[in-house]
Amino acid sequence: MTKNAIEIRDLTKTYASQGAGAEKHALKGVDLDVKAGSIFGLLGPNGAGKSTMINIMAGLVRKTSGKVNIWGFDQDENPRQSRAAIGVMPQELNIDPFFSPRNALEVQAGLYGVPKAQRQSDEILRLVGLEDKAHAYARTLSGGMRRRLLLAKALVHSPQVLVLDEPTAGVDIELRQMLWENVRMLNREHGTTIILTTHYLEEAEEMCDEIAIIQNGAKIAQDSTSNLLGGLDAKTMVIMPEEAPSALPDLEGITACQRDNGAIALSYHTRQTSAEDVLGAVRAAGIRIRDVKTEQADLEDVFLELTRGA
Ligand code: ADP
Ligand code: MG
Repeated sequence: MTKNAIEIRDLTKTYASQGAGAEKHALKGVDLDVKAGSIFGLLGPNGAGKSTMINIMAGLVRKTSGKVNIWGFDQDENPRQSRAAIGVMPQELNIDPFFSPRNALEVQAGLYGVPKAQRQSDEILRLVGLEDKAHAYARTLSGGMRRRLLLAKALVHSPQVLVLDEPTAGVDIELRQMLWENVRMLNREHGTTIILTTHYLEEAEEMCDEIAIIQNGAKIAQDSTSNLLGGLDAKTMVIMPEEAPSALPDLEGITACQRDNGAIALSYHTRQTSAEDVLGAVRAAGIRIRDVKTEQADLEDVFLELTRGA
């Protein structure tokens, strides 16, 4: 039997009302198991409750009710061990401007009670590519470097579970690659369980073994990535015509519409309609193709598909 790195039962969080506003039920009784050694994706639109859930796991936000178990330690019964088993790279770039990266790591290691002899600040700085900046003022670091420092801080106590909250939102391609390489390496070589939140479906598809989708404070789906996303067959082919078409392609199973830039978007389901059928309908409409690309389903489409049957 595989051990669970995280077990959450009936987790709720209600934020107190602010001023005249109503209370906010950010989590409404969520159960979640994450297998040890997996790369797990927590997906959902903005405001779904992802950060709330992660910050509760990390002991940064107090839950309203429910059970949280991290690496076999119940958060209420063994708060210290439960906290020691998890490291979080937060969504916000909050960094103390007066510490150099090296000092920031030493302070963080001190907070987690890592003895001096066991600290690995220099190795961690090298891992995230900040060794040249070890003694720079944090306020001189670029946004990408700050994010790398946040990842480094999450690693100082060698947690069994590493949580990354929207690690690639607004990040350039180079940093994204570096982050994913680091994450894969930690998972492969140290067996670190990885949990990441994202609202990029492709990222989750590429990185994660298993995915849970939360929406409006409730979990609406959880499955292996292939089961969850493999069943989604909505696709859109986008055609740039040589000249403005006199009519749009017309074929059962295809929904055609013209976009503002003149492109023709053709949505279809790959189990019913092949790409060849779509191209055939385009030619039959007398349209000459200058350029063509396909677009994958996005998170919105996934929600529609998942909630369609319900
Ligand atoms: P996500 O990370 O999925 O975007 P969050 O967990 O940040 O979602 O937020 C879930 C809901 O809880 C949102 O409606 C948000 O406005 C609300 N919320 C988050 N933090 C607070 C807070 N400190 N006080 C009041 N409401 C909050
Ligand atoms: Mg968030």
